[in-house]
Amino acid sequence: MGAFLDKPKTDKHNEGGVGNGLRYGLASMQGWRVEMEDAHAAVIGLPSLKDWSFFAVFDGHAGAKASAVCSDQLMNHIISNGDFQKFDLSAGTETQPSLEAIKSGIKAGFLSMDEKLRSMPEVVSGQDKSGSTAVGVIISPTHIFFANCGDSRAVLCSAGKCAFSTVDHKPVNPIEKERIQKAGGSVMIQRVNGSLAVSRALGDFEYKNVEGMGPCEQLVSPEPEIFAYDRDPADEFLVLACDGIWDVMSNEELCDFVGNRLQITSSMENICNQVIDTCLYKGSRDNMSIVIVTFQGAPKLSEEAIKKEAELDAKIEAKIKETLESDSSLDTDLPYLMHVLSDLEGLPPGGGLSSKRGTVEAILNKLRPPKPEDNDEDGGTPIE
Ligand code: MN
Repeated sequence: MGAFLDKPKTDKHNEGGVGNGLRYGLASMQGWRVEMEDAHAAVIGLPSLKDWSFFAVFDGHAGAKASAVCSDQLMNHIISNGDFQKFDLSAGTETQPSLEAIKSGIKAGFLSMDEKLRSMPEVVSGQDKSGSTAVGVIISPTHIFFANCGDSRAVLCSAGKCAFSTVDHKPVNPIEKERIQKAGGSVMIQRVNGSLAVSRALGDFEYKNVEGMGPCEQLVSPEPEIFAYDRDPADEFLVLACDGIWDVMSNEELCDFVGNRLQITSSMENICNQVIDTCLYKGSRDNMSIVIVTFQGAPKLSEEAIKKEAELDAKIEAKIKETLESDSSLDTDLPYLMHVLSDLEGLPPGGGLSSKRGTVEAILNKLRPPKPEDNDEDGGTPIE
């Protein structure tokens, strides 16, 4: 389940890109955990299908091996397997692949990825017991294929609302519980055999050894749930994220927040970083990873939203000034200011005051610079 650090590692990894009418940004951060076990993948233009794209988030557990290998190889397992290739998608319009064929290709790709993991020497020897969730999308010119295995989640925002989300695979879900029990296991403290908090994953072979049962009938199944969504001009953006994000923000909050931020900055990476910082301040103690992909219908930069944000920042600064002036004691610290600001109006939708904590801290440091002993500059040395 992982131990925690004394203070969170807040360095972020960022990537971004443009193509196929899409823009994407991603961010990941280790946070409070001792290890970083998340991984991700982002590919605009598949090798054989230039106008298709692939994005995924992997949340590893019991080690980072499974998530790392999946981020590197899952896409190839999908696009190179027979089911997916049988329908020559690159041949153009005359061979329209059936949705069922693509779905079965995605499923076959997940199962073959899992077999590959099982065959790795460190897994065969029992030295590596890691596993990983996988949530991904394959975006074609006409469809979004969502594939989910585990408790990471994809959410689609369309026409200003959360229009679709994948369902987390938790051991207590009736379908999951039935499979676990049929395989001779049990669900205790909401976990598989009282231990694993997720009921589908790649890897985790300690939970996949029931004799006489197929790969998708085991205690933990590598089978993805797949959904084919017809793309619509009203589609704005989609978010893929691990439970480090979803534990502290709802689908609606994240849709509202990202939709609002897209009107204020054109940097997708910056928006991803803002989401992660907000989740950290909301109390997430997990590794965090997020991928945001925008479509043509995404909110555009808005003068009005930018002006509103500047007004909010000015209001925050004025309130902090007023508080510092009325109370010169040095206990006026960040938590106290966050309390004072908690009923401020006009906070970012979905993000609230947590999403402005960095701003509050920067203003506090500007108005009342940290005491000299906090600096590593030679503040204490008398000059002349
Ligand atoms: Mn996690």
